[in-house]
Formats: sequence, structure tokens, C-alpha cells
Amino acid sequence: MLSDKFWSYFFEIYEAIPRQGPGDREGTERALGLLPPLTSHHRILDIGCGSGTQTIDLARATSAQIVAVDSHEAFVAQLAKRVAELRLGARIKAQVGDMNDITFPDGSFDVIWCEGAIVIINGSFAKGLATWRRLLVPGGHMAVSELCWLRDDPPAEVKAFFEAEGADVADLDARRQDIAENGYRLVGDFVLPAVGWWENYYVPLGKALERFRAAHAGDAEALEVAARSQYELDLYRRYPGLFGYGFFVMQRT
Ligand code: SAH
Repeated sequence: MLSDKFWSYFFEIYEAIPRQGPGDREGTERALGLLPPLTSHHRILDIGCGSGTQTIDLARATSAQIVAVDSHEAFVAQLAKRVAELRLGARIKAQVGDMNDITFPDGSFDVIWCEGAIVIINGSFAKGLATWRRLLVPGGHMAVSELCWLRDDPPAEVKAFFEAEGADVADLDARRQDIAENGYRLVGDFVLPAVGWWENYYVPLGKALERFRAAHAGDAEALEVAARSQYELDLYRRYPGLFGYGFFVMQRT
């Protein structure tokens, strides 16, 4: 069980960066390109939106109405501030909510969007697909990006790290099978090219970690929190092409 202090340090690091997970505008737009055009009568639910970089990209690339949900209040507040500055308030509603307990009625959305967050749901990728399906209109779409093994036989060190983090990592075929077995038809998928999201995620994260370590020098618990994130970043550098983000676009059958 992680302490309150752990979480306060963790959020201090992640509130300081524009995205809380790998991804970039190109990836969001490429996934959108697999969907029918989204106009002003379409409704998108962005789950685990963080401070909402992809939410804003979705608003700019479509004319849909968007509800963005995250359990961490400070991220929702950051998104709300950006929405106000960009005068997107008529189209984006940012709200605090728990992905395990989304209370919208069945069929409330045409599209569910979830970048780098679906495996946080109690259980797994498959659990997320099954739980959120009812929120879609029949024939509605879901677009999710998630950590995947890109090669067979990941080294024990890397597997052990993600297991300890509680991350449900699987290969692309296992994800595709989960999609087929949980009431969806796969429309298309792709792996996010590393160069883009490295620039947009790990580079800012690395800088945030440097600032954080300087600000908390001598505080063992804080340095331990930073070390966990640093380790993930280093693993990615040491094992290029071993893991990455698969983006899956599917349709409710
Ligand atoms: N989609 C964003 C953030 C991904 S990080 C991006 O790609 O940048 C995962 C997000 O899930 C975090 O913002 C975290 O606060 C949120 N989260 C964690 N547990 C949650 C829960 N139970 N319900 C809703 N959001 C949750």
C-alpha cells in the first residue's frame, strides 16, 4: 500500500509535465482518422484524461462535445484552466470521476477515448473494455492506447518491473483477442512511433525528475519516488523496441 506521501510526491512530478503518459498529437489524430468524422452532435468521453493534452487535441480535430474524466482533482483543474484559456468551454466539460464507477446512463457516448489509462481499471485491459461497453451507443467506437510488448520473451528484469507496478502488459495479438472477446470489432491499430512520444513525454518527464530531485535532495522517500519513474525511463532507453504503446480503435458490435 503506497503512502499519502508517496502519492503527493508522485503527483508533484506528474503535475509538472504536459502529458501523464506516452502519446502525441499525431497519434491522437491518426486514431481519429480511423473513425467516421465527428461532428457537433457526437459525444466523446475521455477517460483518465490527466491534464488533458489529448482532450484539447480531440476538440481541435473534431467538432464533437467532450466530457473528460480523471480521478485526480489537480489534473482536472489544470484541464479546466486550459479549456477556459482556449475558450473551449462550450465543448469540453472536465470533471472528477472514477473510471471504475462511471455513472452515465447506457448509450451516453458515441466514442470512448482513453490514452494510457485503461489498465488502471480494477483488473485489466479486458475488464476496461467490458465495463465501459454499455456507455457506448450501438455501433459506437472506442479508441485506447496501452503499453504492449513489441517483442517476444521480454527479459525478466523488465517483466518484474511492470508486474511490481501492477501494469497489465500484453502483446498486440493478446490485446486484439481481448477486443474480439469483449463485444467489439477491431477497426484498426498501430504502434505509436517512439520518436514522437519520447519528445512529448519522456523528455519532459526526465527534466521534471531532475528538478524534483534538486528540490528534494536528502529526502529519501522523495528520491525513491523519482527513482521508480527514472527506472522506467531508463528501461525504455536500454531496451529500444521491446515495449511501446499500441493504439487500438474498435467498434461496439
Ligand atoms: N490520458 C492522459 C493521462 C494518462 S495517465 C495522457 O495520456 O496524458 C493515467 C491517468 O489516469 C492519470 O491522469 C490518473 O490520474 C488517472 N487515473 C488513475 N486512476 C483513475 C481512476 N480510478 N479513475 C479515473 N482516472 C484515474
